[in-house]
Amino acid sequence: MSDRERQVVVVGGGPAARSAVAAYRDAGGRGPVTILAAEPELPYERPPLTKEFLRGELPRAELLLAPAGWYREHEVEVVTAAEVAELDPERGRAIAADGREWSFDRCLLATGARPLVPDLPGTDLPGVQTIRMIPDSERLAKLAGSRVLVVGSGFIGCEAAASLAMRGAEVAIASLEPSPQVERLGEEVSAILAGWLRAHGIELLGGAELEAIEGGDGPAGLRARFADGREQRAEAVLLALGVARNDALAAAAGIETDAGVPVDASMVSSDPRLLAAGDVALAENPSAGRRLKVEHWGEALNQGEVAGRTLAGEEASWSAAPGFWSTIGERRLKYAGWGDGWDEVRVDWREDGAFAAWYGRDGELVGVLAHERDEDYESGRERIEERAPWS
Ligand SMILES: Cc1cc2nc3c(=O)[nH]c(=O)nc-3n(C[C@H](O)[C@H](O)[C@H](O)COP(=O)(O)OP(=O)(O)OC[C@H]3O[C@@H](n4cnc5c(N)ncnc54)[C@H](O)[C@@H]3O)c2cc1C
Repeated sequence: MSDRERQVVVVGGGPAARSAVAAYRDAGGRGPVTILAAEPELPYERPPLTKEFLRGELPRAELLLAPAGWYREHEVEVVTAAEVAELDPERGRAIAADGREWSFDRCLLATGARPLVPDLPGTDLPGVQTIRMIPDSERLAKLAGSRVLVVGSGFIGCEAAASLAMRGAEVAIASLEPSPQVERLGEEVSAILAGWLRAHGIELLGGAELEAIEGGDGPAGLRARFADGREQRAEAVLLALGVARNDALAAAAGIETDAGVPVDASMVSSDPRLLAAGDVALAENPSAGRRLKVEHWGEALNQGEVAGRTLAGEEASWSAAPGFWSTIGERRLKYAGWGDGWDEVRVDWREDGAFAAWYGRDGELVGVLAHERDEDYESGRERIEERAPWS
């Protein structure tokens, strides 16, 4: 049987899955293709869940990556509400908890990641939530006018906080870092983010190590306690503390995992029958010369495309410098870079508030973060891929 006729099962129904099946068909893949998706939805966009959708500016129907007709036209079967509980690569079977089974010659794991929930008292109380799926965003959207505590000042936390504040919620962000993303982006950029958040009326609690959440007794029903004795009352708490990769299926199937699924630049895992792409994957990037951990929308699409072409028998490789964007309120940031550390930073300012922050490590350009400086983002990304020297 040729690569192009093999039976393909994709586990997971996010952007990596949809991009992979599109690329597989574009590359001439003719085998039967099935997407098994745990959520009840067709693949949809997550980024708006902390942005336009949370602010009520985007209708739910517009979240879909493609309408149902697209999957029919491309002869892709999508089975929603199908959570795969076991993979058996020897027999070529994906098995759901309810016993349903699907056969495959090749399987792509596109299971993404899930929000981290710290093992602390009270994180399971009603009113405490994370954000990954549409119902999470819908629940948050109902908090307009309430007092909300966001724990974590990464991009998801900052975006959700700004959108909630724009909807009229009274918002505070508590984080272990003294200032938002200071470790990741440096002092100057962190100060800019803090200024943007404060301009939305958001209170910033830095150096705040969450110890417990307790059910409160007043109208603000919850009380978050921090290690230094500070307390914060809120009607709802959003935990935005990063993600864990959904690699349990792979580990149980006997393939190598390392808090994610290591794959080569073609997205093939330690078992040639199993591929992985998107947030769950730890992919080799030949431009970087190492494996990268990325949790970005665009890279889920890029890696999915590489996986789809590989499944169809093409030579494909993921070599782009990873990039993402973030919108905090109405301000947009674009980042490109390897994302695994820097030792120097320089911020170039323009009078109108636009800026580009350049990150270097060991004498090499490794990252660029741009606000209203798309040309710097584009040129920076190319130079990062070329491993340009820091200057
Ligand atoms: C609120 C939010 C905002 C974001 N904003 C941005 C942004 O502005 N820019 C950016 O670059 N990135 C952003 N991201 C990150 C981006 O959405 C992710 O990187 C991207 O969704 C990863 O795609 P994926 O296909 O790998 O996984 P996912 O999108 O996580 O999809 C995986 C799917 O697989 C399903 N699944 C898991 N296990 C199983 C199983 N056993 N059986 C069947 N199905 C299973 C899951 O339910 C899920 O539907 C954001 C993420 C969130 C949550």
